[in-house]
Formats: sequence, structure tokens, C-alpha cells
Amino acid sequence: MLLSIAALFGLAIGSFLNVVIHRVPGGVSLSHPGSHCPHCDHAIRNRHNVPVLGWVLLRGKCADCRAPISIRYPLVEAGTAALFVAVTARFGLSWELPAYLYLAAVAVALAMIDIDVKRLPDAIVRPSYVVALVLLVPAAVLGHDWRAIARGLIAAAAMWIFFEIVAFFGAMGGGDVKLAPLLGFYLGWLGWGAVAIGAFAAFVLGGAVGVVLLATRMAKRKTRIPFGPYMLAGAFLAVFAAAPIANWYLHLLTTPIA
Ligand SMILES: [Zn+2]
Repeated sequence: MLLSIAALFGLAIGSFLNVVIHRVPGGVSLSHPGSHCPHCDHAIRNRHNVPVLGWVLLRGKCADCRAPISIRYPLVEAGTAALFVAVTARFGLSWELPAYLYLAAVAVALAMIDIDVKRLPDAIVRPSYVVALVLLVPAAVLGHDWRAIARGLIAAAAMWIFFEIVAFFGAMGGGDVKLAPLLGFYLGWLGWGAVAIGAFAAFVLGGAVGVVLLATRMAKRKTRIPFGPYMLAGAFLAVFAAAPIANWYLHLLTTPIA
């Protein structure tokens, strides 16, 4: 029941994120004008604005001019729904749930925008710090877990310093440095293992894809590969798998070699 609600909520948020992904990089208002076909400017009918189903009903073409509508729209909606279900399953009905659902929504929007325009807009990253504090500080108070807040703040500072150093050597963009403390705060809340795994996974994922792109000549040595999506993917890998990975690693360390 809870997971079905999370899926429907995720579809609706995903639909909104499609608007964010399209409009925020250009500084266009989110509410005005309403959804319209970028090709013929006709307003999109309400029944075609239903997440995923609208695209399926239209068979991926504008109802007015038949211009193709990217499959990315339904994919963003379905992907957001899947992430919302996973986050809800991970946290259950808890005080942290809204905070991590918010992070999931921000992650989808930022990853797609970074892929599109190689930027992580301040208009999304900055307010996210306020939202994270507003949602997680009461969670700490109500859960009597002050250590989670302290860990989050220390991890945010650590991630900021770490990414600032990487950026100093020219390997990182300014947007990545601004995003790092936000992810540090969220992962620090969960534990030190999550911080370590999140940061490490970002570089492993980014490095692996970079090597593949270079090997297949899809990227040249100087092509700037957006790093935001790997930071966000690494963070969510840590959110979902930090405990099992840490246990497995401890098991490796403590198992005597025969
Ligand atoms: Zn059209």
C-alpha cells in the first residue's frame, strides 16, 4: 500500500521534474506558460499530460503536429517512481523519509541537467541545503538522534574540503564542489560507512565510464565528462547498500585466510 502510494507520488513528481529539467537551465518560469509542444506550441491536453500513459497513448508523437516526443519524458517519470519506491522501502514511514525522497527528486533533476548542459544549477543546489536542514533537523529532534546531525555536518565539511582539493588540481567543476557538502550531509546522517562508500563509488563509476568512453572514442582526452551524475549515483548506492557493503568488507577483514 505504502509502496503503491510512493510509486504514484513518484510518477507525479517525475512529471514535474521533466519541466524542471527543461526550464531551470534557461531560467524559464516553471509555472508559465503551461506544458506545450516545443515544435508547434500547441498546449498539451490534460489527458495527454498523465505521466508515462500520456506518452504511450500518443505513441511518442505530438497530438497536433506529430513531432516526436522524446522517450526521455516517460523514462524520467518511471525512473523517479522506481527511485521513490526504493527510498520508501529503505526508510519506511519514518521522519527521514521526506528528506530522502526530496534528495531522490533533486538527484534525478540534477543528473539530467548535468548531462544536458554540463552544469549543476545553483537555483536547485542552494535551496536544497535549506530543505535538507528543515527536513532532517526535526527528524533528529523527534528521533533524539543528535549524533546523526553532528555526523552529517562533519561529513558535509569533509566532503567540501575533499572536493575543493580535487577541484584545485583541475579535475572537478565548481558545481560539483557545491553539491559535495549536500551529499556529505545526507550520507553522514546515515553513518561514516555511507560517506566513504558514496564518495568512493562516485570516482569508481565516473572513472569506469570515462575509460569506456575513451576506449570507444566517444570522448577525447579533453572532453569534459559531467561528474554530477556519478556523485549522485554513488550517493544513492551508499543510501541503499552501505550496510551490506560494510558488512561484507568487515567479513573479508575478519575471516582468516586458510
Ligand atoms: Zn506539436
